[in-house]
Amino acid sequence: MAAEGFAFHRRFFRNSQGGLRAEVPSLLGGGDVPPNIALSRPALHRILNGAADRAGAKIVMGCSIAELNDGPHGVDVTFTDGRADRYDLVVGFDGLRSPLRRRLFGDAYEPTFTGYSVWRLTCPRLPTIDCITLYQGEHSKAGLCPLGDDEMYLLHVTAEPGNPRYDPASFPDMLIERMREYGAEPAVVRDAITADTTIVYSPLEEVLVPAPWHRGRVVIAGDAAHASTPHLTQGAAMALEDAVVLAESVDRAVPLEQALQEFAARRMPRARFVHERSRASLLNEMTGERAREPERFADATRRRMAEVDRFLDQPA
Ligand SMILES: Cc1cc2nc3c(=O)[nH]c(=O)nc-3n(C[C@H](O)[C@H](O)[C@H](O)COP(=O)(O)OP(=O)(O)OC[C@H]3O[C@@H](n4cnc5c(N)ncnc54)[C@H](O)[C@@H]3O)c2cc1C
Repeated sequence: MAAEGFAFHRRFFRNSQGGLRAEVPSLLGGGDVPPNIALSRPALHRILNGAADRAGAKIVMGCSIAELNDGPHGVDVTFTDGRADRYDLVVGFDGLRSPLRRRLFGDAYEPTFTGYSVWRLTCPRLPTIDCITLYQGEHSKAGLCPLGDDEMYLLHVTAEPGNPRYDPASFPDMLIERMREYGAEPAVVRDAITADTTIVYSPLEEVLVPAPWHRGRVVIAGDAAHASTPHLTQGAAMALEDAVVLAESVDRAVPLEQALQEFAARRMPRARFVHERSRASLLNEMTGERAREPERFADATRRRMAEVDRFLDQPA
C-alpha cells in the first residue's frame, strides 16, 4: 500500500479562501506504519485481489445468490449461474444495500439519507496538496486529498434536501455553481472542470445494524452492517477490520453461534463510534457552526481528532 499510495502525517483545515484554521497531526500508527496512506480505489482493488489470489481464494465475478437455505448441517446456496453448494458459513460483505441484510432482518435496517451528498473527481495533484486538506465554506465543505505523486481527488459536500436525482450530464455545471464561494486550490480545480470531467455524485446514506449481525450460519459485515458518512475516512478500513476479526473469531475452538456473537460484540463499539463521530462532523460542518467559531476551532479540532485517533488506534 505504501508503494501504491501517498502517506501523510497531518491534516490541514482551511477556510474557503485557503487561510489556515488548524494543522492537526495524525496520531494513528507508529513505527514503520504511517498514520495515513491514501490511494485510489482501483489501486486498493488490485492489492486486495492480489492478496486474495495468493491466499487461494476462488473469485467469481458477475454472480449472485439465487437461493439460500440455512439448515442444521450447513447453508445450501444456489447461485445465479446455476452452481449450488453447501457452506459452513456465509459472509455477506455486500454493501450498503445488502441483499443478505434484507434476507436476515427484513426491512428493519434500511439505509437513511443524511440530507447531504458528496461530489468527487480525480485530477492532477497540485504540489501544495501533500496531505488531506479540508476547506470550510459557509454551508458546504471542500477537500483535496493526494492519491499518489501525480494524482489527487476533490470532494465537495453539499446539502441536497429530498435526495433529488440529477442528470449526470449536468454534474459539471452543478459542481461549479456549488463551489462558487471557494478560492485557493479548490478554485484551481473548479476552474479546470469541463463538460468532459468525470464527476461521481454520491448521496450520503447511513445504516447501523445492532449486534448480533448473524442469523444461524449467515453473517453480514462491512457497509452491510455499518455504513457511515465518510468523515473519518474509515469505511473501507472498518470492512477490512471486520474481516480480520471475523476470521479470528471463527478460528477459535468455540461453537459457531458463540463465535459470531463475539465477533459483532467486539466490533459494535467501534462501529458505533465511527458512525456517531462521522455524523457529528458532517452536521457541524454543514450547519455553519465550524465557519462561525474561528477562535475555538483550532484547539477544539485538535482535541476532537486526538480523541478519534486514540480510539481508532486501539486494537480492532
Ligand atoms: C463518498 C464516499 C467516500 C468514501 N471515502 C472513504 C474513504 O476515504 N476511506 C474509506 O476507508 N472509506 C470510504 N468510504 C466508504 C467505503 O467506500 C465503504 O465503507 C467500503 O467500500 C465498504 O466495503 P464493503 O466491502 O463493506 O462494501 P462495498 O465496497 O460496497 O462492496 C460491496 C460489494 O458487494 C457486491 N454486491 C452487492 N450486492 C450483491 C449481490 N446481490 N450479489 C453479489 N454481489 C453483490 C457489490 O457489487 C460490491 O462489490 C467512502 C464512501 C463514500 C460513499
